[in-house]
Amino acid sequence: MILHLKNSVSKGNAKTIADSIGAFLIHSDGKNVLISGSGMKEVPASIENDVDKSWVFDTDIQLASKKYRSNKREVKIGNSIIGGTTNSTMLIGGPCSVESEEQIRQSAELIKSMGLTTLRGGCYKPRTSPYSFQGMGLDGLKLLAKMREEFGLNIITEARDATHIAEIIEYSDIIQVGAKAMYDQGILRACAKTNKPVMIKRGFGTTLKEFVQAAEFVLSGGNENVILCERGLRTFETNTRFTLDLCGVAWLQEHTNLPIILDPSHAMGYAYGVPVLSKACVAMGIDGLIIEAHPNPKVAKSDASQQLNHEEFKQLFETLKPVASAVGYNMI
Ligand code: PEP
Ligand code: MN
Repeated sequence: MILHLKNSVSKGNAKTIADSIGAFLIHSDGKNVLISGSGMKEVPASIENDVDKSWVFDTDIQLASKKYRSNKREVKIGNSIIGGTTNSTMLIGGPCSVESEEQIRQSAELIKSMGLTTLRGGCYKPRTSPYSFQGMGLDGLKLLAKMREEFGLNIITEARDATHIAEIIEYSDIIQVGAKAMYDQGILRACAKTNKPVMIKRGFGTTLKEFVQAAEFVLSGGNENVILCERGLRTFETNTRFTLDLCGVAWLQEHTNLPIILDPSHAMGYAYGVPVLSKACVAMGIDGLIIEAHPNPKVAKSDASQQLNHEEFKQLFETLKPVASAVGYNMI
């Protein structure tokens, strides 16, 4: 249940009221908002006089639901805004992993030269094998920070586990919670305590409900800047790396109030499919695309098969513009 307290209730009293019914308290749009589990179906009599408005839910998808907020939330990323009524599709690009200063500078130059704003690059890679490249760690984050300084770009980079979440929060403009990390309570709770945008990737075996509940952890902890990212599910099919769940995206658009970014690179697993899949994504009217691009994909230290080269990435941007415009969106 979500309860808006009356404006006459002070912040201090709101905390006491929240504690008395075991609810979360957040301050949103100048209001004191209490959130309790969906098991609560009636406003407790003890606090009835303090409550202005209440919403009852069937499931624990509450703050993220359209039923609570019918308008899509806005998320500010540097000087850009996605979601809300912006109808902007933000193209985020860059390599799977930060590999060297030279490599990430070439990526930053590409993003800047195209008039885009946001550079991706992983430093703590959640690899399936311990013998694969694990990422540059803090040295990589420092390179990303240098690119932010030099080129005025926003940085998105992923948290693999909670041991380095403080560094990720410090160095990134969007915190990426990886598909394998989205159940990590340490990461989610830390993300709830910052106001930086958080992009949560859906696990490849995660139901839509579990996915949105991960977002609820961050929202109910007080961070309203949450973005969902669909990046493909594991199915019986082995010719593609994963299966991009566009049905799931339609469900999220209908039932949640969160901006949605799609990741066709990881879903497809092969560069040849990324442009056509990206067009399908953009045609759905989405808030962003995150695409892997590498100066020389053949020698990439992770996800080599799916990364576009820089020429392909530039072409992709051009081909997506008319698709976005056909559905009333604008590529940014
Ligand atoms: C990535 O973005 O490089 C990545 C590892 O993604 P995911 O968490 O979706 O596998
Ligand atoms: Mn990758």
